[in-house]
Amino acid sequence: MRIEAALAIDLGGTELRAALVDRDGKILAFAAVPTQAQAGPDAIVDQIAALAATVHAEAPGLAIVGVGVGAPGPLDPLAGIAVGPPTLAGWQDVPLADILERRLGLPVRLENDANAAALGEWRFGAGHGARSLVFVTVSTGIGGGVVADGRILHGRRGLAAEIGHMTITNEGERCVCGVVGCFEAIASGTALGRRANAATSPLDGSTLRRLSANGEVTGRHVVEAARLQDDLAVALLEEEARWLGVGFTNLLHLYSPDVLVVGGGIANGLDLMAPVIEATIRLRAMRAYRDVPVVQAQLGRHAGLVGAASLVLFDDGSLAARMPVGPSTFPDTRRDFNG
Ligand SMILES: [Zn+2]
Repeated sequence: MRIEAALAIDLGGTELRAALVDRDGKILAFAAVPTQAQAGPDAIVDQIAALAATVHAEAPGLAIVGVGVGAPGPLDPLAGIAVGPPTLAGWQDVPLADILERRLGLPVRLENDANAAALGEWRFGAGHGARSLVFVTVSTGIGGGVVADGRILHGRRGLAAEIGHMTITNEGERCVCGVVGCFEAIASGTALGRRANAATSPLDGSTLRRLSANGEVTGRHVVEAARLQDDLAVALLEEEARWLGVGFTNLLHLYSPDVLVVGGGIANGLDLMAPVIEATIRLRAMRAYRDVPVVQAQLGRHAGLVGAASLVLFDDGSLAARMPVGPSTFPDTRRDFNG
């Protein structure tokens, strides 16, 4: 009998990746190219078809059951439409699932990339065996996905769990979304790097500037310096951990997961931050929520790929009723709200 596998596509703003993934989450073939992000949807569909041919040639003889695609939001997973990802030029209401179905002759499921990564960690990674899980990725921004009672939480128009833009304070730098106080604006790797830059200056002899060769200090440099027990980096990482603890407390109260999984570049410092994150949760969460484990993601950069594969390898029914394709409008109510 031929081995069943899914073709998984991870459509990133800089890299387009494809893999053949079996039911154990094992990657049997892999290929990647730089995304032609400025060239429009047709060019990227051509790139996807070429990558599909490449991985098929690398692992021939598999029974491909379908195609799972992780793509940047906003997108409509039920209709299979990429609504208007800001990282891809010329994409507006593109019925990507239908286009790829016709092109590849296989059923296609589309999911937002953060949700795909959450699914990957849930099926095959740090959240394996949990019934409910919250996945948070802390890197340039903060994103995430929620598995609730055994299926991904979509909400209206697939927009649920926009974790990075929950308001957790009323001050600080303005978020990329335009408002002040978002989780992402205060606790992302970018925010951590910004605080580290403000606390140091080039050629000041600090460990942080030494690690960055007197250039821009990033969140990763702070983690690295904290590992060397640099006092300033330890203090910066403690502040970061307190903010993460505040955000995580909100997520525990909202979604009551069995486990909270943290990925992204800053998760490399999770072991260093764990005491302060746990203390913050103990201080702020109601008693019933305090014992939820906060663990590091296991799948790294492949979480989204294996998660996308799981969309077609394990259809949980939530995508079975794909809506007929129609115009989808996303009015920018936020602009109205903020005047
Ligand atoms: Zn925001």
